[in-house]
Amino acid sequence: MFASCGVHPLDIEQGFDAEKLRELAADERVVAIGETGLDYHYQPELAGAQQDIFREHVRIAVELGKPLIIHTREAREDTLRILREEGAEKVGGVLHCFTESWEMAEQAMALGFYISISGIVTFNKASALKDVAARVPLDKLLVETDSPYLAPVPYRGKQNQPAYVREVVEYVAMLRGESVETMMAATSENFFRLFSSAKA
Ligand SMILES: [Zn+2]
Repeated sequence: MFASCGVHPLDIEQGFDAEKLRELAADERVVAIGETGLDYHYQPELAGAQQDIFREHVRIAVELGKPLIIHTREAREDTLRILREEGAEKVGGVLHCFTESWEMAEQAMALGFYISISGIVTFNKASALKDVAARVPLDKLLVETDSPYLAPVPYRGKQNQPAYVREVVEYVAMLRGESVETMMAATSENFFRLFSSAKA
């Protein structure tokens, strides 16, 4: 098992200790820093505090040479700005459970970030996300479940689980007109390229 280390932007009221994060994140089994990022959908009033703490995570990631797992919701410009200002392209990372625009995906990819598609892509209303999932270059694409949340169709509404990543892969392969085998090989390869200290 490998881990990532961080304080989620919606959990910052529980406290954040940069020294503690630095110490935990230095462990060799910690392959990434995150989730970290900005979420103005649920807690817009904490935007300033979220930015400060996000910035600390990016600094620690750059210091340790570990990639970032970014949570971003309704905070496109600030997320990209902080990544640029803190030199995040030195370590790269992933925009996890991506739900933003194609423009944001392009700008993030230009900074060395991967785009990770969750089960949301299987939902009827997610037409913009289906478009992003079809357009991201194969060598920049990841898939995930974000379990226990957001179970993909046909399990929508039930508790999600990691095994359902298969439904996400199959759906994205269908959208892209690629074989499931191609998608599985590419996303696995991308994962180990990004999280380079994780070993299969
Ligand atoms: Zn998240």
